[in-house]
Amino acid sequence: MLSVHTIGKGLEAVVAGRPMLVGTGGLMLELEGKTALVFGVASEESIAWAICEQLAAAGCKLILGFQKRFMSRVFQLKDKLDAIEAFYPIDVATNELTAEFFTEWQAANPGAKADIIIHAIGFAPKECFDRPTLFVDNEPMNTAMTISAHSLQRVMRHALPHLASNSSTITLTYAASTRWVPNYGIMSIAKAALEAWTRELANNVGPDGHRINAISSGPIKTLAAGGIPGFDDILYHVERNAPLRRNVTQKDVAGCATWLASPMSSGVTGQIIHVDAGYSSIMVPDSISD
Ligand code: NAD
Repeated sequence: MLSVHTIGKGLEAVVAGRPMLVGTGGLMLELEGKTALVFGVASEESIAWAICEQLAAAGCKLILGFQKRFMSRVFQLKDKLDAIEAFYPIDVATNELTAEFFTEWQAANPGAKADIIIHAIGFAPKECFDRPTLFVDNEPMNTAMTISAHSLQRVMRHALPHLASNSSTITLTYAASTRWVPNYGIMSIAKAALEAWTRELANNVGPDGHRINAISSGPIKTLAAGGIPGFDDILYHVERNAPLRRNVTQKDVAGCATWLASPMSSGVTGQIIHVDAGYSSIMVPDSISD
């Protein structure tokens, strides 16, 4: 006999008269005591921060990789989650600065293993948006591609020796990878490459039991999104036309990430999963005659 109702932060299930926290007690999510390496927290608005909150609620230990330019913001979050065990700097722009994270983590915890990797990293220099994509110079274009797409390969290569069995990696993408979105420019090319990396790497590490998936998030106002010209118009359009008639929140994305992190999604890899209030399922918007 199983009954489920909400209490406080989680769902309480009563199984054979014994209360258990679903999502925090291992009944379904089985994430208690797992270690997650989280890359991409810059502020409390970061999608990665919402993922940290949900993974922590599910019982995970968190190791955060932060970019030095956001150090003071990230350190302000330090006391908000007991699950955070350590912070180490990382810059995926180079191999050396990526390696630094793993060296510091392993030096402090020799032989430590990661069950979950969150890659929530994206960046394109301002020059990428100053002109039509056709005329963007090589240097800013390469920076956007390296940081927003190829860094998944870089992170995975450094993480590989330290992956626990059946690990799960989650990256964040956007639907401009497959359909044109105004002003997204070079980031749409980077997201297309990131999605291809997701499939490629899923096949590289899948035979050893590791999974890699991407969540394609609807638009959410964050620091990174602030760099996309006309972003508020996109939010307005999605809210009026998505099947759910709203934008998604960081929490919506974090819920899917937590499921992907957990063995509940054990048969899922190499996938692009849309968390976008259903927007990607429509072609002609309901507001067409407005
Ligand atoms: P955010 O600005 O909070 O996070 C972006 C993160 O990328 C920051 O933590 C930043 O430190 C990190 N980063 C950038 N360059 C880096 C580097 N060289 N080395 C290490 N880290 C670096 O914004 P967010 O919206 O939470 O973005 C997270 C991910 O979600 C990105 O991949 C973004 O493209 C993706 N995404 C966002 C939206 C949205 O609308 N916000 C929609 C779809 C996908």
